[in-house]
Amino acid sequence: MYDIEYLDIPPLTQAGGTVRLPGSKSISNRVLLLAALSHGQTTVHDLLASDDTAVMLTALEQLGCTVVQNGNTAVISGLGGSQLAQQKATLFMGNAGTAMRPLTAALALLGGEFELSGVPRMHERPIGDLVDALRQLGCVIDYLGNEGFPPLRLRPGVLKLDQPIRVRGDVSSQFLTALLMALPLVADQAIRIEVVGELISRPYIEITLNLLKRFGIQVEREGWQRFTIPAGSQYQSPGEIHIEADASSASYFIALGAIAASAEGQNGIKIMGVGANSIQGDIRFIEAARLMGAQIDSAPNSLQISRGAWPLKAIDLDCNHIPDAAMTLAVMALYADGTSVLRNIASWRVKETDRIAAMACELQKLGATVEEGADYLKITPPAQADAWKPAVIHTYDDHRIAMCFSLAAFNPAELPVRILDPKCVAKTFPDYFEALFSVTEAQIDQIPVICVDGPTASGKGTLAALTAHHLGYHYLDSGALYRLTAFAASRAGLSLDDGEAVAQIARDLPVRFKGDRIFLAAKEAEEDVSEAIRTEAAGMAASRVSAHPQVRNALLDLQRSFRQLPGLVADGRDMGTVVFPDAPLKIYLTASALHRAERRYKQLISKGNTTTIAAIQQALEARDQRDMSRKAAPLKPAEDAKLLDNSDLTIEESLDQVIDWWQGTRPF
Ligand code: C5P
Repeated sequence: MYDIEYLDIPPLTQAGGTVRLPGSKSISNRVLLLAALSHGQTTVHDLLASDDTAVMLTALEQLGCTVVQNGNTAVISGLGGSQLAQQKATLFMGNAGTAMRPLTAALALLGGEFELSGVPRMHERPIGDLVDALRQLGCVIDYLGNEGFPPLRLRPGVLKLDQPIRVRGDVSSQFLTALLMALPLVADQAIRIEVVGELISRPYIEITLNLLKRFGIQVEREGWQRFTIPAGSQYQSPGEIHIEADASSASYFIALGAIAASAEGQNGIKIMGVGANSIQGDIRFIEAARLMGAQIDSAPNSLQISRGAWPLKAIDLDCNHIPDAAMTLAVMALYADGTSVLRNIASWRVKETDRIAAMACELQKLGATVEEGADYLKITPPAQADAWKPAVIHTYDDHRIAMCFSLAAFNPAELPVRILDPKCVAKTFPDYFEALFSVTEAQIDQIPVICVDGPTASGKGTLAALTAHHLGYHYLDSGALYRLTAFAASRAGLSLDDGEAVAQIARDLPVRFKGDRIFLAAKEAEEDVSEAIRTEAAGMAASRVSAHPQVRNALLDLQRSFRQLPGLVADGRDMGTVVFPDAPLKIYLTASALHRAERRYKQLISKGNTTTIAAIQQALEARDQRDMSRKAAPLKPAEDAKLLDNSDLTIEESLDQVIDWWQGTRPF
């Protein structure tokens, strides 16, 4: 997950490959609650791991439910219908509507003293219609903040279930879902629900009915107006249940396949885990994407998407049946041959943010012309390539805004797109950007590289790693590659003076980087060599092998292969001069020999070595001399490098300076 302030997505050109999507949020949270309310144990496979499901799991545990998680599988011991282990709890619902609404209904009916609250945005999302419906039944519910909104306090009441329950269906279908999932808990007699007003987002009700069936409840329905829970209904665990991949999450990759030219040797994008057999309404996004020109083959549990019509075809569509996925259409509309209209989307206004206003604002930043209505959006793409603008996309703590706007990176103006607060995707798809980068391509010179060169002990490794972390970029510690080469060569019994033989080893270095650990493949197994290559002796050996031009050449491809989306920070003495001469930012980091000696001294002392600062300074100066005068890759700043003397700077101040320079190279 990109836990950073902003993520710059370089201009993307092509896409191809297979993606496995995380489980559906709507299904995951419904199944978790149903499993908790059931008799018996339920093993839930392919559960979504996200903020919203974490909120639900925590609440269920607080209510006395036992949850055992192992990877994406959770085993839930049901509370067995009307028995709640805890009659009193304060529950935090984050911004998860799929937890807030159904839990409110279930807990209000089961009785007990509960408080339910969430993040500030949750306290702006309406719940009055559900509370009204529950109060008709005799539930006692108080608003602790504003009338009609969470937070809520629930207290035990005397239930009256003989009259049909009336609930509004035109603000959020989650109110009806909440009642449908809660009422079986008290269905000694048949219970009727009547929907007032036009029911929106019906496909979500279909998911609810479908899952209720899996848990033993056969709801009878007349049209979309009347629903009856039969007398004697009781939740029964199905034992095992698989969560299908999230169809709304699939929309970004369906759109990707429709927008991007296919990468060489690939037939567009393949999505695993969701397909024609899906019970999720958003799967009908496929139809909308086809209308815009996407080429889609659907199998029961997978989809294959490639570009069909290009530019895409503008559409005028009622999107009520695909409220979440339709946001993706708004971004596809940027690539259409005319003005698109998305209609009947009023529910967007009460989602994670006011999505109509948010989409309109952000689309305009990119250069589109947008008309925003109470319940529609009209989008005209930028007139030509140079009408696109470099945009900083505000994401409003709304995962879907972050995800769909990443697709603006295919703009014909070849502009990068900056996504603020990218970690908000964790609500439903924590690894969204990793998945995106795994199937997209950019021109190599469009993948940014920041080089940090400099003399030994200047702190370039620390600064480079920190910069990479700050920007969400990959990090190349080129010194480690020389250290590894020397290590592998010694292990193979080679003389470090035999440049040709050592180069041979360097060419096929069987190295794997995982997090901050480095592994070298040996005969049978891999060995973690992270510590072994960090010794002073390993550094000296690295210095020796790095003097062979053949070795430096042999490592070029490996070093350049680190230049991957979304960007790279590379440290080492010739990064800016030899390896990435076209890097848009090169830093030559230095500090006085005394400062460097003092830093090295602290490191060595903390490792238990005994030495003096003067001795270290002398050695450093000798090494500088050798490094600057050596033939192969002498130590020198690239001509276009920015000099940064960090003698009197803290590491944070150095980072600020680098980020400042970096901003200067960006179009935002
Ligand atoms: O940075 P580190 O101390 O890990 O580098 C080990 C040695 O590898 C350096 O002293 C230097 O001689 C060599 N090296 C190099 N070119 C690089 C990185 C390291 O010659 N890009």
